[in-house]
Amino acid sequence: MSTAEADPDDLPLFAASRKVYPQSVSGPFRRAKWIILLLCLGIYYLLPFLRWDRGPHLPNQAVLADLANNRFYFFFIEIWPQEVYYFTGLLIMAAFVLFLMNAVAGRVWCGYLCPQTVWTDLFLAVERLFEGDRRERMRLDEASWSFDKLWRKTAKHTVWLVIAWWTGGAWVLYFADAPTLVRELATFTAPISAYAWIGILTFTTYTLAGIMREQVCKFMCPWPRIQAALTDDEALNVTYRYDRGEPRVSFKQAQRLRAQGAPAGDCVDCHQCVAVCPVGIDIREGAQLDCIQCGLCIDACDNVMTKIGRPDRLIAYDTDGNVKRRLAGLKAIYRPLRPRTLAYASLIFVVGGAMLWQLATRRTADISVLHERAPLFVTLSDGSIRNAYTVRLLNKRPEPRPFALTVDGLPGIRIETVGTTPTADIRPIVTVDPDSSREVRVLVTVPAGITLAPSQPVTITASDLYAGETVRATDHFMAPGAHP
Ligand code: SF4
Ligand code: SF4
Repeated sequence: MSTAEADPDDLPLFAASRKVYPQSVSGPFRRAKWIILLLCLGIYYLLPFLRWDRGPHLPNQAVLADLANNRFYFFFIEIWPQEVYYFTGLLIMAAFVLFLMNAVAGRVWCGYLCPQTVWTDLFLAVERLFEGDRRERMRLDEASWSFDKLWRKTAKHTVWLVIAWWTGGAWVLYFADAPTLVRELATFTAPISAYAWIGILTFTTYTLAGIMREQVCKFMCPWPRIQAALTDDEALNVTYRYDRGEPRVSFKQAQRLRAQGAPAGDCVDCHQCVAVCPVGIDIREGAQLDCIQCGLCIDACDNVMTKIGRPDRLIAYDTDGNVKRRLAGLKAIYRPLRPRTLAYASLIFVVGGAMLWQLATRRTADISVLHERAPLFVTLSDGSIRNAYTVRLLNKRPEPRPFALTVDGLPGIRIETVGTTPTADIRPIVTVDPDSSREVRVLVTVPAGITLAPSQPVTITASDLYAGETVRATDHFMAPGAHP
């Protein structure tokens, strides 16, 4: 066994981790990982440049976190600061999706989709390009410094840094108009915070994906511990089918034993599954927290099984329950529909449905009313009583909207605005710019002769003159006898 494959149990407690040199492998799981990697990276790097027409007054970037104006744009959805509950809903749904994936097919997220896995795979591909496959890399690391070693290491770290810098650069493009920010970055006129974030993300990407790699999954990420508590005997996991693999013997010995009618397992102890493992573990030792379930050991073992003429999937996505069933001479059963998977699916459906319903019925206008406290009311010379309020109107549509204000709750009550231009409409009209809010001071008056309690509810209504949308807010009308 090489140094890289030493049994971790033999190491002293505080020994430095041994470097893992994953060998390249081909097969359907490796292909699936390449496709997912290209899709994820393509989306991440290119999405900020995708345009989405929202009209003349709004940004045309499809996905944009516009921190300066407190807006988040995602294609046709625009989230205002008051609507952060959408993010809460998304986080809850993401958690249940993760739980469901885990209950059906193990750590699919870790093995295929997690950014740590995707970028580590990319950095490993660059490493192989300059330093060769597992054995060449091990030899290169053991060799003393030479020109050959120097240029290979320099080229690898340079390309890693370029990818890391590009990753940080793509991140900041989600927070400003991407083409404009690219121009500003290139001419050194971008805000200093953009350079700072690019620097931070260049450093973290280079360190986490290039240097730390599997250490992040083993020691920093909490998910392996959480998922271990969520899994059960019926969840598909990358499994060594020891019922078929044991006893392990060499290929020749296995042939001899089978010819004699004696039992021989299919595992020929070639260690290919260990050599390709990106976390450097031996799946034949059973389920382990360190296993990210990438499936690469399945590809490696399948290639070996094909060469020696044995059926494939000695290592496969399987369940602990099935291994036990086969050992007991029973048929394997796959149960993706179980109480826990149905419960997770239902919760995703409920949370997703609630969010969709909320999105479909969301208002594009809003109103809030604040009573002025000093003074609470004014008695005018004709005996009428007047209260003042600050009314804030929100227009979430991409065009200007005129709102007519009315007030209800008391006989003869009337409303007027301060500082707005009078129109032919007898109601005060307040026009709010596209995708913005406007505050107006409002005076509400009740004529003399009306019997008033010290405090009574009144409703201020804003009606969009064109779209017909109506929003209301209730506050109190204060009269003599009211206490601040
Ligand atoms: S044991 Fe297999 S599935 Fe698990 S991390 Fe290693 S190669 Fe991937
Ligand atoms: S690759 Fe397959 S045959 Fe080789 S050691 Fe691993 S499980 Fe055994």
